[in-house]
Amino acid sequence: MSVKRAAHPELDIVVPCYNEESVLPALISCIQSLDLGVRLRVVFVDDGSTDGTHTLLTKACQEDARFACLSFSRNFGHQTAVTAGLQHAKGDIVAVIDADMQDPPELLSDFVDRWREGYDVVYGVRTQRQESWPLRMAYRLFYRALSLTADIDIPQDAGDFALMDKRVVDIINSMPEHNRFVRGLRRWAGFRQIGIPYARPRRLSGRSKYNVNRLARLAFDGLLSFSSAPLRVAAWLGSGAAVLGFCYLVYAITSFSLGGGAPEGWTSTIAVILLLGGVQLLVLGIVGEYLGRIFEEVKGRPQFVIRSKSGWLGQ
Ligand code: UDP
Ligand code: MG
Repeated sequence: MSVKRAAHPELDIVVPCYNEESVLPALISCIQSLDLGVRLRVVFVDDGSTDGTHTLLTKACQEDARFACLSFSRNFGHQTAVTAGLQHAKGDIVAVIDADMQDPPELLSDFVDRWREGYDVVYGVRTQRQESWPLRMAYRLFYRALSLTADIDIPQDAGDFALMDKRVVDIINSMPEHNRFVRGLRRWAGFRQIGIPYARPRRLSGRSKYNVNRLARLAFDGLLSFSSAPLRVAAWLGSGAAVLGFCYLVYAITSFSLGGGAPEGWTSTIAVILLLGGVQLLVLGIVGEYLGRIFEEVKGRPQFVIRSKSGWLGQ
């Protein structure tokens, strides 16, 4: 692969932070001790934190000229924070890492090497997780469902931890959608992509900001924005019900003509009504999920509101 790469590229690291005061000092000193052979800058995105995160970040920006911080007016969510960071990063390469050290910053050195080899997107693939087993099962199920339904081949067990060439970042930034599943958009952009396996450690301290509701929402965003397959469920269920209904009709007519008399039929009638009613509600729910997302898009509100900027972004 012969691709010309800048000899002294600039790497911007995007770090979404929501109430991360307990991990930020460790992350900041880890980033400061990195030696990646590139010019390094960091964009912290303070996603409406209510603890000391903002104060810590403002201080870090005053002490280190390579740091910048964007603060949202309220909590807009992880994917939106990543989106804002990508829009403000200007480097030849841009990396995205979590604040809680679950995406080890020292791995970026391998990522940069791969970029120099000619890859445009280098992403981390989680080989091991430390979460509880029901959660691990849920992640597994989700990624399998995603690969079954998605129109593009989204890699399994790959999160937002990645390093991207500027041209990929420009493409992601040009996508206007509001329900953003950044790892899917990154895949959609194409170019040369490669996954690097790594064991995902536990978060250094503090608690995960994703509760079951938020995880489910992210999962739905992923499934619904990369596939219209769920809409096809209606057609499949409808055909199945029609075939079953037809079989039952044949059975009823046959048994009637063979002298079985008119069937009593209450149980079967109720069963059919319940089954069809359930199927119709399910399908309506699926259509509603898409409709809700279309509603979000057509409103066209800004994806986030910035309260303040500091560090090199503030100048
Ligand atoms: N995060 C954020 N906004 C949110 C929730 C999370 O910016 O509304 C950040 C958080 O500070 C962390 C990253 O997104 O840097 C991943 O969140 P978390 O570690 O809680 O998720 P998990 O690793 O458990 O999936
Ligand atoms: Mg985490």
